[in-house]
This record gives sequence, structure tokens and C-alpha cells, in this order.
Amino acid sequence: MQAAVDLHTHSTASDGTKSPLELVREAEAIGLGALAITDHDTMAGVLEVLDAGFSFDINFLTGLEISARPPDDFNRGDELHILGYGMDPGDPGIAVLLDRLQDARRTRNPLMIRRLQAMGMDISLDEVAAKAHGGLVGRPHMAKVLMEKGLVSDMDTAFMRYLGKGCPAYIEKYREPWEDAIAAIRRAGGIAVLAHPGLIPGIGSRGLRLLLGMMKEAGLGGVETYYPKHDAQMVSTLKGLASELDLLLTGGSDYHGDFKDDISIGTGAGDLFVPYGVYTELLNRLEKG
Ligand code: AMP
Ligand code: ZN
Ligand code: FE
Ligand code: FE
Repeated sequence: MQAAVDLHTHSTASDGTKSPLELVREAEAIGLGALAITDHDTMAGVLEVLDAGFSFDINFLTGLEISARPPDDFNRGDELHILGYGMDPGDPGIAVLLDRLQDARRTRNPLMIRRLQAMGMDISLDEVAAKAHGGLVGRPHMAKVLMEKGLVSDMDTAFMRYLGKGCPAYIEKYREPWEDAIAAIRRAGGIAVLAHPGLIPGIGSRGLRLLLGMMKEAGLGGVETYYPKHDAQMVSTLKGLASELDLLLTGGSDYHGDFKDDISIGTGAGDLFVPYGVYTELLNRLEKG
């Protein structure tokens, strides 16, 4: 059988529960042909793998998932996720962009914790940070503490009652303007890809056509097509748009370890299959520059 790849995974550098090297070993163990680690707003996990200094049986691609601000007239939520692949991890432009996003998280986290405390909850920033294993702290780590303390029954409830947008502990976070995110990825030698467009609330094929067309003009190189929450119709819509707009197709599980316990690396919710050709086409495009 043709090998599968997984080009969307999270490590302990952001809100996954497996270390970067554990991800690589797990991907090798299940026979994946290629892996990308795409942590939110950091490449620290990617660097950890590259710095490990030994070779793997699997093709490893540098990756990133940037929290981006959508176009001004976009009325389908306030965040787009933009994936980057093949960037030079030492690129100074990417470093500046990531510093900005990381600083913003460091400002936001204590404000959210203070709101939870003001609601009478026994929770501290130290406890939350401990869940991040030295990585970037985000809302999933807060949800985990609330759950372990029995203050909510599960992660979803934590988001629905307290941490989700519009909920009492929610604080906006800085997002990089979408065009700047794409430009920074490209300047670092990478390819920018719109992540999981099927998750954009209420967006139809017309909306996707407009969004992808506009993003392509600004340098977008691909669209994440194979994704656990994309049904067959979404996959077919995205394949059509990718061919019309000359965008690459990518895909991955969005594995987060225990933070998303219904999603496995490689196979997603059980039936994900991202063909190896997705990786080779991405690589070809990267080599052409
Ligand atoms: P943050 O980047 O800190 O705002 O946290 C957002 C992250 O929380 C997303 O990238 C998801 O991984 C995660 N998330 C969002 N909603 C939920 C949910 N209902 N249950 C579990 N995790 C969630
Ligand atoms: Zn996440
Ligand atoms: Fe995402
Ligand atoms: Fe993700």
C-alpha cells in the first residue's frame, strides 16, 4: 500500500502532549512516509527535532501554524490558521513574527487566569504553565487544569462555559494580519497553506472561492484539504478550487495527543489518508523556490 503522510501535528512546544521526538518516533512506528510538526506560533519543536542530530526513517518537514487575522471584510470569525512548510527555522523574519505572537500570549494568559480566579476558581498560572511542559501556554492547558480539578467535566465544557469566545474568561489575543503571515512564510523560503478551511463557520463554496482567490493573490501556495473534519463534499470542493487556482493540496490529522483524544496521528478520526504524493508535490514546489 502507498504510504500515508501527516503534515499537521502539535507537540509539547504548543498544545500537544507528545514531545517533538515522540511524534517523530510515533510517526515512524506506524509507517508514515513524511511528518510535519506544525505548532501554534512556535518552531521550537521543529528545532528540537533538527537539533537532535540523528537521521530518521521518515521525511521530516519544518512546519508552523500561525494564528492570523482574517481580511477586514471577512464575517466568518476572527481567526484564520495559516500553515507554513519548509521554512528556514533560523529565518530572522519568522523569529520576529513569532516573538510578537508569543509576547501576546504571555500578556493574555494571566488576564484569563485572573478572570477564572475572580469567578472563585482555584487555579494559578503556574499550574497552567506546568501543563505546557515548557512550551507555549494556551487555552487547552487552562482547560486541562479545570478538568483535573473537577471544575468542569471535560475539555469541551471548559471551552463552552469559560474559555471559548464570548465566555466569561475569554480574552482576545493578538493575531498576525493574514497577508503578513503569508509574506513571512514565503520570505523564509516556505509555502503558506490555509489550514482546515472546512472549519470556518458557515462558509460555502462561493465564500471559499473568494477567500482562496484573494489569498492566492497574496502568495498562498496551498489549501489543507485532507482533514478529519472535512467530509467528502468539502474535500471535493477544495480539490476543485485548488485545481482552478493552482494551489497545492495538503493534509494532516491536527494531532494534539491527549488534548484531542479522538484524533490519532496519521489516521485522524480513523479514516484519514493523506497520500504520499501530497508530500512530494510540496517538496517539488519548495525546490523550485
Ligand atoms: P489559544 O490558541 O490559546 O486561543 O487556544 C486555541 C486552541 O484551543 C485551538 O487551537 C484548539 O487546539 C483548542 N481548542 C479550541 N476549542 C476547543 C475545544 N472545544 N476543546 C478542546 N480544545 C479546543
Ligand atoms: Zn491547538
Ligand atoms: Fe488550527
Ligand atoms: Fe492545528
